[in-house]
Amino acid sequence: MIITKILFVFVLGLISCSSIFAKIKVLLLDGQNNHNWKATTPVLIDALERNDGFDVTVLTSPPKKSPEKAWNQWKPDFSAYDVTLSNYNGDLWPKRVQDGLVKYVKGGGAFVVVHAANNSFGNWPEYNRMIGLGGWGGRNEKSGPYLYFNDLGKLVRDPRPGRGGSHGPQSEFAVQIRDHAHPVTKDMPKVWMHAKDELYDSLRGPAEGVQVLATAYSEKSKKHEPMIMTIAYGQGRVFHTPMGHADYSMKCIGFQDVLQRGTEWAATGRVTIKLSKGFPDENKVSSF
Ligand SMILES: [Zn+2]
Repeated sequence: MIITKILFVFVLGLISCSSIFAKIKVLLLDGQNNHNWKATTPVLIDALERNDGFDVTVLTSPPKKSPEKAWNQWKPDFSAYDVTLSNYNGDLWPKRVQDGLVKYVKGGGAFVVVHAANNSFGNWPEYNRMIGLGGWGGRNEKSGPYLYFNDLGKLVRDPRPGRGGSHGPQSEFAVQIRDHAHPVTKDMPKVWMHAKDELYDSLRGPAEGVQVLATAYSEKSKKHEPMIMTIAYGQGRVFHTPMGHADYSMKCIGFQDVLQRGTEWAATGRVTIKLSKGFPDENKVSSF
């Protein structure tokens, strides 16, 4: 009898543990990019999976200019995952996949956009609504306003004519937190140094439901450019960072914590992940 009781409690414990510690299932999309996705995808996987809470599955698209037949074999099953992470910048997906992503995120799904994934699909309106802001891909004032912070710390939505997307030479740069109340940026130092990266400027888009959590000052644009963003899209949550040009940029402890926390937030609406030991401060970059 006692053994039965003990077994019962043990099984109950297992059930509750598995529900508390269910991993966040991440679908990572890659396969085309004007960046070295074969080098960055493994860093993105490591960045997430060094936390036991994530389980990443990679789905690699057909290469550039593939025939329709090859695309017909490519079937991201968005609804089987808690969150989709894009490391993709290439040919427009088949309509079936576009509609699948929109339906999934609008219906309460989660999407994470890193660096050049925001260069994708300049002419796909729903994608641009989803990511809030993007660069290149024919983007200009017709895509929407240029969002930045002015020197007074005020968010400006600038509708004036100009290109969407630009950057200066790669360098280390300071990330300035603008919203410490959001769970993704909570407890981060007010300013921290990011490892060598491209600092995207002049990003444009519909910018509906965008919350800018952090910025970085661009010597090129002379503006404080959005670096960490959330976007409300339908019932879904989107997390967007223009950081992450190369593997060495993504090895920044700050970048990896931003990615982990942003992905958890997109998937669940909350953040339980603490900042890593060795998180960078305002004086020094800190990388894995
Ligand atoms: Zn880049």
